[in-house]
Amino acid sequence: MDIRAIPLGPLQTNCYLLSVDKKAVVVDPGGNPAPLLAILDQEQLALECILNTHLHFDHTAGNAALSRATGAPILASKGDAGLLDTDVFRGGFMGLPVVEAFEFEILEPGEREFLGEPCSVFSTPGHSPGGVSFYFPRQAAVFVGDLVFQRSIGRTDFVGGNLETLLESARTRILNLPDATVIYSGHGDATTVGEERLHNPYLSESGF
Ligand SMILES: [Zn+2]
Repeated sequence: MDIRAIPLGPLQTNCYLLSVDKKAVVVDPGGNPAPLLAILDQEQLALECILNTHLHFDHTAGNAALSRATGAPILASKGDAGLLDTDVFRGGFMGLPVVEAFEFEILEPGEREFLGEPCSVFSTPGHSPGGVSFYFPRQAAVFVGDLVFQRSIGRTDFVGGNLETLLESARTRILNLPDATVIYSGHGDATTVGEERLHNPYLSESGF
């Protein structure tokens, strides 16, 4: 599987383009999807679906345009549906763009397959009430949205955020994965489970 990080939008949210052969999946298109569409076109990739780790505006702003251009469905957990009437869902504050409305299919946590690869969809609330992470065991890759960052963790002061819940999600769903697992976060550089278990100041005193 080819994994590319393509930062989009004013907050340069990491959008990830995953591809195998001529098929692709996008995680969190948080801005104008033109750079994604250019790659899809250039490489003749068919987009299977658009996955959202959570429904904050900076991860979803490109959903509608990307889905319209490709016909790919948008999949997101129902746990964030309670955010639909909040600023952090809609955007549009502090000069940030307003998110174009989009419809999504409910993605329940559990065992799935994307691009022919097994994928565990973990429920990882804390940064948002219904956040999920996408773990591809054969790729040793996990896409966590804003749950965990290199040496940091996501904010918990948005609607539905909770620090204890976030720490529990991070410890029981992410830090327990094999050390070599690469953590692909919503902002900043990728890291690994082993690195964060040792060096993340918010998570390293967890009793591991
Ligand atoms: Zn967020």
